[in-house]
Amino acid sequence: MKKLGILTSGGDAPGMNAAIRAVVKAANYNDIDVMGIEGGYQGLIEGRIKPLTSKLVENIADRGGTILKTSRSPEFMEEAGRKKALKVLKTFGIDSLIVIGGDGSLKGAQKLHELGINVIGLPGTIDNDLTYTDYSIGFDTTLNTILECIGKIKDTDYSHDKTTIVEVMGRYCGDLALHCALAGGGEIISTPEKKLNFDTICSKLSSRINSGKKDNLVIVTEYMYDLAELQRYIEEKLNMSVRTTVLGFIQRGGNPSAFDRILASQMGVTAVELLINGSSGLTVGIKDNKMIQRKLENINDEKNDRQDKYRFLEPLLH
Ligand code: ADP
Repeated sequence: MKKLGILTSGGDAPGMNAAIRAVVKAANYNDIDVMGIEGGYQGLIEGRIKPLTSKLVENIADRGGTILKTSRSPEFMEEAGRKKALKVLKTFGIDSLIVIGGDGSLKGAQKLHELGINVIGLPGTIDNDLTYTDYSIGFDTTLNTILECIGKIKDTDYSHDKTTIVEVMGRYCGDLALHCALAGGGEIISTPEKKLNFDTICSKLSSRINSGKKDNLVIVTEYMYDLAELQRYIEEKLNMSVRTTVLGFIQRGGNPSAFDRILASQMGVTAVELLINGSSGLTVGIKDNKMIQRKLENINDEKNDRQDKYRFLEPLLH
């Protein structure tokens, strides 16, 4: 490996900075220079590239977001854009690249691998929607943020005997809502994997209310419902007033949890080791507490075995 580039792409996730720190430190430890590419693939196309040293990444592990900034780049989706990116990498003498991002970013990484760059991906997304890895960088921090917010909503719901619908992120993956319910944050959950219709939500609510539980949290994953419609439906059917809270972008930022920092650090070091050993076209993950690698081209092939966790909800949420 001559020179290593690193970029963050797609949605930012807490822990991306810890991954950047780990990559730079591990590369420098092995006498490899690192270039930081700002603003994801778009920044790469535009040549926004600066050297990154161990000293520059010394105090970033505890910061949310990404010091390299991130973006979504429609230009990189086109072959012409990717050819430009390749030219820029050649101009800067970068022969190896580490991409930290979600599903889309890793697909982009595969395209660069096909163009002859040595590429390793790291899963950076709060949604945990990459099935090949048990956890992605950012998921744990976001889950904790959601639980903290839900705790506050619970206090007022309890005091007023209220029911609140809370919408959490996840894109098309229910892991945030599922884990939130497993951790005690919510009584009724609806996710893309186990979607409840309006009548089922109402019947679950009414049986809870009839058994004396007057404050209830309904946790739903984003993009599933028209929330105003769901709220109106429950209010009319059960003759009660309901609140709705969309947690929104508060879920993305914040200092990464210890878990995310450690995960990101282990993944960052693993990515550098893989490149040193001559690997490319791989993405790092964690399975059963061990670092694993998968081919970038196969990231969506694995079944989401987190589905098993739904069985724990039955006794917990009755
Ligand atoms: P995330 O990485 O968080 O899933 P996106 O899906 O928006 O976020 O992807 C981030 C960027 O990755 C896109 O803006 C685009 O530049 C690049 N990308 C996504 N999908 C592809 C693809 N199929 N081929 C090439 N580049 C892609």
